Amino acid sequence: MEWGLPLKEEWYEMRTPESTWQESCEQADPFKAELLATVSHELRSPLAAIKGYTATLLRYERRLPREERHQFLLAINEGAARMERIVESLFEISQLETGAITLQRSLIDVPLLAQKALRAVEDGLPAQPDRQFTFRLLLEDSDGKPTRNVPFHNADPARLRESLAILLDNAVKYSPEGGTITVIIRPAAVAGPSAFGISDQQAGNNNNHASASESHPMLEICVTDTGIGIAPEHIERIFERFYRIDLCLTREVDGLGLGLAICRHIIELHNGTIWAESLPEKGSAFHVLLPLE
Ligand code: ADP
Repeated sequence: MEWGLPLKEEWYEMRTPESTWQESCEQADPFKAELLATVSHELRSPLAAIKGYTATLLRYERRLPREERHQFLLAINEGAARMERIVESLFEISQLETGAITLQRSLIDVPLLAQKALRAVEDGLPAQPDRQFTFRLLLEDSDGKPTRNVPFHNADPARLRESLAILLDNAVKYSPEGGTITVIIRPAAVAGPSAFGISDQQAGNNNNHASASESHPMLEICVTDTGIGIAPEHIERIFERFYRIDLCLTREVDGLGLGLAICRHIIELHNGTIWAESLPEKGSAFHVLLPLE
């Protein structure tokens, strides 16, 4: 590049060599190895960008056109934000796993919460003509008919909103062609109908949500997308921490494999259940069942 910005390959020279990490990871226990390998890999790229752009700015500050300086600052800001998200996710999963988080429950309007979460995702999307999304919010009664009447629900608004944000972010991340992302909110005296007309067993799901929902009135929140979908052999494992399906797309999009693990913990703290069903190439549906208390 004209102003001597280090090439991406050169930035990578600035980092600790892969082999050193690998060796230290292998000597640690399996959890630490998993943690170190994933975190070091994910932190490296934003850190390298921050270092590279900062070095160029320091060196050529006076000679760089204003617009270019601004672009570099934007890239530094994005790198820092990405690192912050990684650190926050790690902190949160450790808090959830050690039981250090207690819910701050109140009576909440779930459709309003979902509407805000949808709008936030929509507003955060960069304008890309080849990747258009349609966002929908559907409220249904127990017969599947449209309704406006969804009772207030006793839950932790910040945590529930966070879970929805994770599911919606994933719907966007794993839908490379755009498509339709829908949030459905409905009562579920029994387990909700399959979004794809397939049974739980076919979807690779052996959760016990059906028996839990038969005995208690539940509220179901379902987030569907028309993205890449998930193969049956992965569907059980995506809620495990650090689990990412090894696809070209997954390697291209940011992620630590912690979002769904965080979601699962939050929903379980509410005494609810979460599961996924999916058809590869057709899309995915993530179902959350919360007991109506
Ligand atoms: P991350 O997105 O950071 O990798 P998550 O825990 O949120 O981590 O998701 C785990 C994995 O599950 C993802 O890496 C992806 O392979 C898969 N996944 C999650 N949501 C979807 C979705 N809506 N469509 C297809 N695959 C998904």
